[in-house]
Amino acid sequence: MTSEATSHILAIGGHAGDMDLTAGAVIAKYTQAGHRATFLHLTPGEKGHPRLTPEDYGKQKVEEAHRFAEIVGADVRFLAYKDAELPVDEEVKYEVADVIREVKPDILITHWHGSIHKDHANTHYIVEDARFYAGLKTIERALPAHYAAKLYYADNWEDPYDFHPEVFVDIPEDAYNTWVKAMNVYAYARGETYGFPFIEYYQALTIVRGAPAGFKRAQAFAVPRGALSQRVQYLK
Ligand SMILES: [Zn+2]
Repeated sequence: MTSEATSHILAIGGHAGDMDLTAGAVIAKYTQAGHRATFLHLTPGEKGHPRLTPEDYGKQKVEEAHRFAEIVGADVRFLAYKDAELPVDEEVKYEVADVIREVKPDILITHWHGSIHKDHANTHYIVEDARFYAGLKTIERALPAHYAAKLYYADNWEDPYDFHPEVFVDIPEDAYNTWVKAMNVYAYARGETYGFPFIEYYQALTIVRGAPAGFKRAQAFAVPRGALSQRVQYLK
């Protein structure tokens, strides 16, 4: 750590695991450098198991999310929405805005909108308005306004439509190893629900995103329209 101000990343995903896999290596890098990170999962993703009931799998997902966050040195919290039933309405936008005002992140990471999952696309639109509401001083809530200066969209194989990564973050070996260890707490990531090899996919993706940027490994992000391509060590 230098004398520069400490960053705080708030990663907001539709289901527990989404931000963990797509941004977890960057988050491990940040926490290992003395910065802070918080996951906010809008649902547990409890309907994604072919054998367990949503109730049982929901409990398991919440436990897995806490273990993941502990390994990468982040905080974790949930909103009380149900998998596949996440609405885009003012209530959820204000709930997320309140978390932004409380956590006071300078960096937000969330889903790209071009997704095969409605919860992912809905999360994208919720976060865009929540960021605006959180930052607007004239919207009175329990906590004062906070504007999260930067917004990035994670590189998720389920959110591929019109996704153009423009920011490539170098992933050092320690952060990579921590993230891989953490991913293994999720049964679905280990391929135990529907067989998709999440861990291998996201490991390989760090090579795919790193090589063109001249890094051994990278996680990549899209940015809101108008931002320029950047090759960076940290999200700024
Ligand atoms: Zn998801």
